Amino acid sequence: MKYTAEDMDWKSATNKQKEILKEQGWKLENGIPVLYVSVPEELEYNQKHGHDHSHEGHQGTLQVNGVEKDIHNGTFDVDSNNETIKIMVGEEKNEVKKQEDGTYQVIVEKNLSQMFENMDKKQKEAVGTLGYGDTYYPGDWVHCNRFNGPNSDDRHLRKWNPQAYINFYKSDCYHGALMYCTDHNSCNINERPAYCSYMQNHSVLYHRH
Ligand SMILES: [Zn+2]
Ligand SMILES: [Zn+2]
Ligand SMILES: [Zn+2]
Repeated sequence: MKYTAEDMDWKSATNKQKEILKEQGWKLENGIPVLYVSVPEELEYNQKHGHDHSHEGHQGTLQVNGVEKDIHNGTFDVDSNNETIKIMVGEEKNEVKKQEDGTYQVIVEKNLSQMFENMDKKQKEAVGTLGYGDTYYPGDWVHCNRFNGPNSDDRHLRKWNPQAYINFYKSDCYHGALMYCTDHNSCNINERPAYCSYMQNHSVLYHRH
C-alpha cells in the first residue's frame, strides 16, 4: 500500500516532526509525502507481537489476468507463473512483475488526506467530542480514534497539519485500514463513531497506544 499525503504541508513541519515522519517511513516523492506499507508484513508483525489488532481481514477483491480474486490479509492467489501478470484494482490497471521469490507485489495507492476527510465528515454530529486542535484525554468522547498512535500529541488535527499524520501512524484507524476499513468510507459515517476501535475490541473513547 502506498499512502500519499497530498494535502500535508511538509514545509510547515518542525525538524522534530520531520524526524518522526521519516522514522515512520514517510518520504518525499516529487514533492509529495508518501508512505509505503506492506500489508502482509504489518499484519504478521502484529500477530507475532500478540496485538489484538490481528483481526482477520478481507480487503475486497482484485482481478488477476481477468479473474476476480479475494484479498485476504493483504494477499491474493495467482494461478500463473508468468514473468508479468495483469492486475486490476477498481478501475486501475497494472502490469506486475514477478519478484525474485516468485511472488507478485501490487502497490495500491491511497490518498490519506482524502481518507482523513472521509473520517471527519460527520465529526460535527458526534455528541460531546472536542474540536480540531484540542487536546484529548483518555476517556474523552471521540468521533474517531485516528490520532491515537504512539507518537501522538493527543490532538485531532486537519489534513494539512504534518502532526496529523504522525498521530495517525499505528492508530486504531491505521490498523483498521490494513484489515477491513480500507478507505474509511463507512467508518464513523455509516457506522458508529470510533468504528475502527470498536472492531478491534478497543475502547471507543479516547485512549493511546
Ligand atoms: Zn477513523
Ligand atoms: Zn475506519
Ligand atoms: Zn486502540
